[in-house]
Amino acid sequence: MTTYDKADYKESFVVKGKLALPYQYFAGRTGSKFLIALRDKKKILGVRCNTCKKVFVPPRQTCEKCFEDLSEKWVELSDKGVVTNFTVVRYAEPHQPIKPPYILAMIKLDGADTPFAHIVRGVAPSKMKEGLKVQAQFAKKTTNTIMDIECFRPTSGQFELGYSYDELEIGMSASFTKTITETDVYLFAGISGDFNPMHLNEEFAKKTPFGTRIAHGALPQSLIASVLGMKLPGLGTVALEINTRFLGPTYFGDTVTASAEVIEKLEKKRWVRLELRWTNQHGKLIGIGDALVIPPAPAG
Ligand SMILES: [Zn+2]
Repeated sequence: MTTYDKADYKESFVVKGKLALPYQYFAGRTGSKFLIALRDKKKILGVRCNTCKKVFVPPRQTCEKCFEDLSEKWVELSDKGVVTNFTVVRYAEPHQPIKPPYILAMIKLDGADTPFAHIVRGVAPSKMKEGLKVQAQFAKKTTNTIMDIECFRPTSGQFELGYSYDELEIGMSASFTKTITETDVYLFAGISGDFNPMHLNEEFAKKTPFGTRIAHGALPQSLIASVLGMKLPGLGTVALEINTRFLGPTYFGDTVTASAEVIEKLEKKRWVRLELRWTNQHGKLIGIGDALVIPPAPAG
């Protein structure tokens, strides 16, 4: 038996090479019609077996069950369907159509009996689930392949619940940014009933320590609601506590970023604590705080 010590490995070296492998294939009579309909009419065609009534997409020449000849038994399918299975591709290979990570899903179109593989975009891998309703988004430029469907995206009107307690991890963060205008301040005065001239009257405000009008403190503070309620944890979240310490004013025209980061998971109650920060366009911290929330329950 030969043994090697570390020095032997050090002397070995790696040669990097490249193989180009251009190829072409005949799509066949059935496959060609499928691809041409996709390219020219943005229609997804399948074939139906008259014996077992199964609809195959992509189409094929023969029914796998009845051996019936399916050529010319075309049916037009919906561009909408449902995800029956999926995987998240995380490794990168040069042949991939898009950069990982991406979701590769089996999609069964409405009216079809067989699912086929395609890419799903517009949904985070951690939020992906079987049963998601999706719709084809056709490519602007044809490649004469199945990629004439660029991808599938969730159909609109589906409200995705936010991260559940188990999905949330310490360190996850999200933010929302908005420019605070005079209109915002006026509307907020109406909402809150706080018509304090330091927010509304420039001549009065000139005499205050700020020297000009500033926004109500609760206005930039309220931006955190969109983070907690719509992003992290997201839809379905119930806020129990929001503590804020104001560190600086928000002037008209300031662009405020409200951000939240998960800092604690309360195992017993299954509640989550988040650290809150508000900064302006200069990166200056104008507020800090924390929130206690009940994350949404997982969809069951
Ligand atoms: Zn059949």
